[in-house]
Amino acid sequence: MKITFCCDDTWPDPWLKGLRETLPGAEVSIWEPGAPQADYALVWAPPQQFIDEQAAGLKAMFNIGAGVDALLPLTIPAALPVYRLEDAGMSVQMAEYVCQAVIRFFRGLDAYEADMARGVWQHQRNPRRAEYPVGVMGLGKMGARVAQALTVFDYTVNGWSRSPRELDGVTCFSGMEQLDDFLASTRILVNLLPLHAETENIINARTLGLLQSGAYVINVGRGGHVVDADLIAQIESGHVSGAMLDVFREEPLPAGHPFWTQEKIILTPHTSARTLARDSIAQIVGKVAALSRGESVTGRVDLGRGY
Ligand code: NAP
Repeated sequence: MKITFCCDDTWPDPWLKGLRETLPGAEVSIWEPGAPQADYALVWAPPQQFIDEQAAGLKAMFNIGAGVDALLPLTIPAALPVYRLEDAGMSVQMAEYVCQAVIRFFRGLDAYEADMARGVWQHQRNPRRAEYPVGVMGLGKMGARVAQALTVFDYTVNGWSRSPRELDGVTCFSGMEQLDDFLASTRILVNLLPLHAETENIINARTLGLLQSGAYVINVGRGGHVVDADLIAQIESGHVSGAMLDVFREEPLPAGHPFWTQEKIILTPHTSARTLARDSIAQIVGKVAALSRGESVTGRVDLGRGY
């Protein structure tokens, strides 16, 4: 079995080592133009040339991330099954990150940090939990885990997905027809949608305006979900009180971008849920084995739908 690795911006050594250890009989190599045909591919943001040279002979292609937006601009034969990572150790990281952001906003920890740095000992008004309903956009592997983690702290939790979902302790909304009701029920907005044509720019002046006053935005989906200038304007107007952003239209976030200097925005460098090589390899190798036995596996991407 031949496995090719074509992952932009990814340190290949742990992947090659892990694949070779887990599949000792396999030939594992880094793709380069003109490389021999492989049976399976691990990809992250591959170039079109990779698809043109390899796709026809591949049995399956595995995206080494949960989001497949980097594949959507490519021309990929419909017959080639594409799989994405399903959780693979990421949802617990996402739950940690989002819970800390929600707690930071709810408890006013930024204000306390600023006070303590100035030597000021004072208490903020006691926040009322009921005044901070959280809304999670996207209730898939990441969003469902995050929503349920938030219920542990007794927050009011809303969720929004494309098709109707049921989650214990979460008020679920679905479809464009319920988007406005979901937003109006939400003060802290968490974005965990996949980026595709229907969700691009979904966090904009109109949708931010529907959030409850004193809103917060936590974006851990993709930068393309947010209209940057609209978020800045809503913060400047006071309707949005702050944001914690992990993902950006351009990464690294360019020098001079207004997010760098807006003091009500906290930034992290796309680190809310890192891909874990060991967990991901175990999942992918398990799927390769199942596919080789003729079984079907979960996590197949519908490229037409966009996720
Ligand atoms: P997933 O399991 O495919 O879940 C996607 C969710 O979004 C589903 O609930 C889906 O609705 C919903 N959705 C998709 N299109 C929609 C639309 N047009 N309207 C309303 N809801 C829509 O994906 P996942 O594994 O949870 O990952 C979600 C995203 O998180 C990824 O695509 C990626 O962009 C981001 N992510 C970021 C990081 C990071 O480090 N920042 C790490 C991992 C993932 P249905 O349930 O009806 O299908």
